[in-house]
Amino acid sequence: MKVCFFDIDGTLIVSGGAGQKAFARVFREQFGVDEISQAVSFAGRSDRAITLDLLAAHDVEPSDENWRRFHDAYIAVLPESLAANEGTVLPGVEALIATFAAADGVEVGLLTGNVIRGAEAKLTHYNLWHHFAFGGFGDTHTSRDEIARAAVVAAGEHLGISPNGDSRLAVIGDTVHDITCARAIGAYAVAVPTGLTSIDELRAAEPDLAVETLEDAKTLIDWITA
Ligand SMILES: [Mg+2]
Repeated sequence: MKVCFFDIDGTLIVSGGAGQKAFARVFREQFGVDEISQAVSFAGRSDRAITLDLLAAHDVEPSDENWRRFHDAYIAVLPESLAANEGTVLPGVEALIATFAAADGVEVGLLTGNVIRGAEAKLTHYNLWHHFAFGGFGDTHTSRDEIARAAVVAAGEHLGISPNGDSRLAVIGDTVHDITCARAIGAYAVAVPTGLTSIDELRAAEPDLAVETLEDAKTLIDWITA
């Protein structure tokens, strides 16, 4: 069994800023923050970590209650933000997923900082959600390594296997965080510079494979179908 975990933003899709704009709207409407701090990084981080950092940056208590308040408002406004901002499914994604679906013993999952209902909204908007039956999400964890470990547990539960035993894992993502979290679970790390990180920056983090787009993923397909 091989399990291939996909990141979402910058890897499967770009949302035209829909996610960040939904964050900004919720902070404005729920917490009275006119403009969210540019000092808080979004790329490759969990929604929970981003939210707690933004709350603290704007002197709002980073409590569970405020996290829940953010989450529910964000989920409510995200579909509208996705519809209002033009994004796209990234090149090669649909063909790669179809290749994996047709291969014996290959399963695909998600490994993302998005909260699960945010992942569902984004991938439903781009007609990809139905491909993914399990994953690790950014609801409870702030560290991507912890999300990766949760993704492995979810894969094991869904597939009835022990993925850390005789299974091979791969993580495909667009940031250095995706590469480092692949290391945390002993997975093959595939980097693709279709987000905000350049291929040189990604290569410096020593992924097993770096490709310009997922259209160039022949090496990945060879590895996963070997
Ligand atoms: Mg990403």
